[in-house]
Amino acid sequence: MEHLIDIPQFFQSDGDGKPFEYCLVCGKFLLDGDTNYVVEKAMKNYDGFEFSSTIYEYAMCTDCHAELQKSMSEESIANMQTYYQQKVLQKGKQVMTIDLRTFDINSWMSKCFFTEKPLNEMKEYQMVGQFRGNKLLINQPPMIIGDEIIEEMSGLISDKTIDEMNGFKEQYLGPPPELQELIYGRKLIFI
Ligand SMILES: [Zn+2]
Repeated sequence: MEHLIDIPQFFQSDGDGKPFEYCLVCGKFLLDGDTNYVVEKAMKNYDGFEFSSTIYEYAMCTDCHAELQKSMSEESIANMQTYYQQKVLQKGKQVMTIDLRTFDINSWMSKCFFTEKPLNEMKEYQMVGQFRGNKLLINQPPMIIGDEIIEEMSGLISDKTIDEMNGFKEQYLGPPPELQELIYGRKLIFI
């Protein structure tokens, strides 16, 4: 049984304030009913301000996402999977149970999935979610990945994989120049 909810504003494109329409890589239209895709956004907070800005954002169909993951080394993938499983185990079972009658996406996405640190206490964070057409899938729940976790995960990825990821960013994300250092100095995490 798949559980789908409307796409919340924070998972829509900052560019036009609407759901992402096309796969970043292959250009496939995403909003017909049966296309699966992921959305990832990286956000930055500013000390003392109730304001986050988007470092980068994209949507990618699951075919392209799988293709991209093939470019990660087996070692990096194995390390990431082990890390993820350990973190989920540490959290305990009850946290992974979603009660659909009371599920509140805003509250779910107000803190790091792993550490439960609130968004406003982070310098940066990433948001990832899985989608189908114009709905958010919550079977594999969307998550906030906080700065501490990003840092830890970066340490698990091989240099070769980091090079691949940076190549990907240069090719597809093309940020404005003032953000360039911020983005390319960072490692992109795919889960
Ligand atoms: Zn695609």
